[in-house]
Amino acid sequence: MRGAAATEKRGMRELGAEKLVGWDEVTHGVVINSFEGDAANIASLTSEERIYSDFNSYTATVASWRVVKPVYNRDICIDCQNCWVWCPDTSIISRDKQMLGIDYDHCKGCGVCVEVCPTNPKSLLMFIEAEENDSALSQWPEKKKKEKE
Ligand code: SF4
Ligand code: SF4
Repeated sequence: MRGAAATEKRGMRELGAEKLVGWDEVTHGVVINSFEGDAANIASLTSEERIYSDFNSYTATVASWRVVKPVYNRDICIDCQNCWVWCPDTSIISRDKQMLGIDYDHCKGCGVCVEVCPTNPKSLLMFIEAEENDSALSQWPEKKKKEKE
């Protein structure tokens, strides 16, 4: 699994704390850095190249919540980026406006990306976590015909 799992010490170093502190105990005005070191050119690096701080949500994962997962079908996708915009966990991988797939290390399986996908059939569909992606792709539905009014 890519990305470090959250640890009990997460964020303690930045706060200079001896023990974990609650959100209401954090010193006012404390700076919580998202990245280690000089972050001046961070926007030009891909997420895999960045060095994340213990505070960044990239170092934690809610993927273990998932019981169903989105599967991506490249053959239908029109790269509209809707899923990338709406995903609450930044778990849609997109480069140069091209959808590349799902970051399963961080996706929590909420299904929002499927809801907002505009293609017919959808380019993302939810399957049970145990389903192999190749098997899921072989079960993809046909295009739905428009019903006559
Ligand atoms: S299921 Fe939810 S968390 Fe996972 S990629 Fe889709 S919108 Fe993001
Ligand atoms: S919302 Fe659907 S069509 Fe648009 S980029 Fe995502 S998967 Fe592709």
